[in-house]
Amino acid sequence: MKRILLIATGGTIASKPTGEGLAPGIDSRELLECVPEAADIGVITAEQLFNLDSSEVYARHWLAMAAHIEERYDDYDGFVITHGTDTMAYTAAALSYLIQYSPKPIVITGSQKSIYARDTDARRNLLDALRYAADDGAHGVTVVFDGKAIIGTRARKMRTRSYNAFSSIDYPELAVIREDRVIPYIESPKPASPVFYRNMDSRVFVLRLVPGQDGAIFDALAERYRGVVLEGFGMGGIPMYEDGRLLQALQRFTRAGRTLVMTTQVPHEGSDLGVYQVGVRALNALEAIEAHTMTIEAIVTKLMWALAQADDSARVRRLFCRPVAKDLL
Ligand code: ASP
Repeated sequence: MKRILLIATGGTIASKPTGEGLAPGIDSRELLECVPEAADIGVITAEQLFNLDSSEVYARHWLAMAAHIEERYDDYDGFVITHGTDTMAYTAAALSYLIQYSPKPIVITGSQKSIYARDTDARRNLLDALRYAADDGAHGVTVVFDGKAIIGTRARKMRTRSYNAFSSIDYPELAVIREDRVIPYIESPKPASPVFYRNMDSRVFVLRLVPGQDGAIFDALAERYRGVVLEGFGMGGIPMYEDGRLLQALQRFTRAGRTLVMTTQVPHEGSDLGVYQVGVRALNALEAIEAHTMTIEAIVTKLMWALAQADDSARVRRLFCRPVAKDLL
């Protein structure tokens, strides 16, 4: 039987009512006791890393999850992390960069309702995640939710209430889990051995362009942040306006040695700044990186990872532009 490590981190799945709304209060052993069928899937060990609403989870916690898995990597065949849904897509993307080429599955799941709610999706999601973690074909970082396995760099929370909360953005699901069967849609060879990274630089800011933005904010951002992700319009257009003021502000930002990543605020199909004059002029004038088909969660966490591995912007760019786990298509 496969050995699976269940790492609980909090979220609605582990929540109980408090005087101030739901908060995590159920531990990993209790979660496992709610799914006695898990004993047929594998030999499961339950551990608690922290117990937080995922709104509280950031780079420090991603590093703790990766380190926890690295320390135990040889002792288990697969890993399941239970996690809140709100920032699950960020965690999935972050772990995809912190643990690359993993031949073992690292599966993240959670639920829209507490595991103790009568109509909960938690039991199904947890069992599905354990099943996927025990599957011979599974590897790398994935989100398993509502019967779907989604590659970690392409997951996005799309709904705040429905059970089908997550989608795979612009890439097919890897598998579906129906009853007790994993049905693969995409199969790929297992990599030989994992590469773990142990740092991230969270000095990254995301700015959504709105019509009329003059860019003055970039001078302030350059003081505090090493990288800014700019969500432009449509294919990625950056307006010139009457006096080129936004572009000049962006130039000052990149000339200060900061990294600018350009993407789109449109949810699907990515950017291509080469199509319109408003994009081409920006590309020619700026030392910017284009994120193309990456999701915003992948862009943010990859930039944090790349900035931590390199001091100079040329190397940050090389690391960022190298595809990892289908983040760039
Ligand atoms: N606020 C919760 C969290 O992200 C929501 C959930 O888990 O569904 O921790």
